[in-house]
Amino acid sequence: MRHHRHRPRVAHRSRAGLVAHLTALGALRCRDGPARGGRQTRQHRRSRRCAPVLQRRRRARDGRRWSQWRLRRRRARLRRRESRLLRSSRRARGPHPTSLVDVKAGTFGDDLEKELRSAHGITIGHWPQSVALATIGGSIACRGAGQYSTRYGKIEDMVAGLEVVLADGTVVRTGQLAAFGAGPRSAMGPDLTSMFVGSEGTLGVITSARLRGHPVAPEERRAAWAFPSFADGLEALRRTLQRGATPAVVRLYDATESKRSFDGLDTNLLIALDEGDGFIVEAAMAVLSEECATAEPLDVSLVEHWFNHRNDMSALELVIRAGIVVDTIEIAAAWDVLPAIYESALAALAQTPGIIAASAHQSHAYLEGACLYFTFAGQGPDPSDDAWAEDFYRRSWQAVLGATSIKGGSISHHHGIGLVRGQYLPDALGAGFEVLQKLKDALDPRAS
Ligand SMILES: Cc1cc2nc3c(=O)[nH]c(=O)nc-3n(C[C@H](O)[C@H](O)[C@H](O)COP(=O)(O)OP(=O)(O)OC[C@H]3O[C@@H](n4cnc5c(N)ncnc54)[C@H](O)[C@@H]3O)c2cc1C
Repeated sequence: MRHHRHRPRVAHRSRAGLVAHLTALGALRCRDGPARGGRQTRQHRRSRRCAPVLQRRRRARDGRRWSQWRLRRRRARLRRRESRLLRSSRRARGPHPTSLVDVKAGTFGDDLEKELRSAHGITIGHWPQSVALATIGGSIACRGAGQYSTRYGKIEDMVAGLEVVLADGTVVRTGQLAAFGAGPRSAMGPDLTSMFVGSEGTLGVITSARLRGHPVAPEERRAAWAFPSFADGLEALRRTLQRGATPAVVRLYDATESKRSFDGLDTNLLIALDEGDGFIVEAAMAVLSEECATAEPLDVSLVEHWFNHRNDMSALELVIRAGIVVDTIEIAAAWDVLPAIYESALAALAQTPGIIAASAHQSHAYLEGACLYFTFAGQGPDPSDDAWAEDFYRRSWQAVLGATSIKGGSISHHHGIGLVRGQYLPDALGAGFEVLQKLKDALDPRAS
């Protein structure tokens, strides 16, 4: 009983006090085991009764220390994590943290590139000839292509997500702009982004886009070759692309275009330019050079010439002002039918009454085929005769699109459909055209 009366007093807060108290009770001896000789003394028995108290106190003390220590360690860990996050968020303001860029649809292409390059060290790589005239929304709406498309892709390869306003005012966010769309790819049903890319304003108004960015290229290489025929040049490009090399710019001009655009150069000219990581550029250009081994190497200043004049449309404007009807038509087809389309489209254009020039170049290349870009010009007896001009215009388009369709090619590569090609679309898409029509009816019923 005496002991029990002592128990509350054991609750010393300080270790020294506790030691003194327990020493008086003999508890410390008890900790050392029975008294010498193995006999349990009265003190020992008493201290044995005291031991659980000591242990509980020690455990409590140790527990308190343990949890305080854990708390301190946890706080330190949190502080370290915070500073790590802070450091990485500082880094996130650097060149290309996520490779994604959000842009309003009305932004002009050149303004976007200027801002991205100077302030963030990144590029989208979309350089259409109309880069200073076309908006990002317009490029997406028409499924455009830039001059560096063989490295960076066409606009549909660059768009990671869209914000679109539908006819009834609903705002739709697709792809990586969707609520749970932050992954680089997804399998959450059909790709709604693709549905709006190329819709030319018929399904909704694109208000902003999330685009894929790349670090500004540290390396660039250029080369040029002359081919005996346009088909030979196409064949070298096919082999290059199918070996996996994708130099940013590969443009093959037929002899007519080479003469016109490269100071009378009478050959089928291939110019190439690649940019990006040094190893990749080196490899891509090495593959291309190997595939062009039988062609005649030309001075790389030809690439410089192209680069400096690539967006200059002043010559075309002069021609139009002179009353000449002129336009360009771009199509795409598989490698094996491209030479035939080239030949038959030019032959059909040559038969068109009033034609004065027809030519083509290849400008965007892929694993399975490429884009051919035709230019035609014609003049009637009376430059003020609009009916003649329109008839010539439609016949010329028919010449190229007819030659393309018959070989199963695509009647547009990057300018979209618009009004002139509209009449060819039902045949080109087959039952798919009905699907598009139903989509249009569903999203914009009042337009039907
Ligand atoms: C000299 C010249 C060179 C060109 N070179 C190239 C080239 O190299 N590569 C290439 O791809 N194209 C080229 N083009 C074609 C043209 O620049 C593109 O089709 C361009 O993408 C159109 O953009 P825009 O802003 O001018 O659109 P607009 O001409 O104003 O509109 C074109 C179509 O897109 C729709 N549209 C526009 N903005 C939106 C939006 N925000 N939401 C929904 N629909 C919209 C319009 O309704 C319309 O049907 C060239 C054109 C010219 C005149």
